[in-house]
Amino acid sequence: MTCLFCSIVHKEKEADIVDEDDTVMVFKDIHPKAPVHLLIVPKKHIVSIDTVEDADALLLGKMLLKARDIARDKHVDGYKLLFNVGRKGGQLIDHMHLHLMGGWSESAREDEV
Ligand code: 5GP
Ligand code: ZN
Repeated sequence: MTCLFCSIVHKEKEADIVDEDDTVMVFKDIHPKAPVHLLIVPKKHIVSIDTVEDADALLLGKMLLKARDIARDKHVDGYKLLFNVGRKGGQLIDHMHLHLMGGWSESAREDEV
């Protein structure tokens, strides 16, 4: 089985890597939907939030704290964190990932409903 995000994690496929530690990698989304759009990805292959095991609760926590730390480092002071789950939930890559999207100006947000 080939998995795009496993290939990035194993550095077989190029990506703009922002941060990595022993369990998590962060890289830029190739088609950004926000001024800052990063993907927080566990190094271990897990398909989605729907299949993640309770035993990986610490890993999930690490992903959230990593998102917080990267946002702080980059001075992104307002952002969205998003897991798409399953095709009907908009998930296209079957390797769990947390979207970090931000970097908008406040005036850009005023147009939002
Ligand atoms: P999903 O829809 O599965 O939640 O999000 C997958 C994300 O991965 C999309 O935002 C898409 O732009 C991004 N993506 C797809 N292929 C690549 C790739 O080869 N490299 C990087 N860095 N991002 C990718
Ligand atoms: Zn994978």
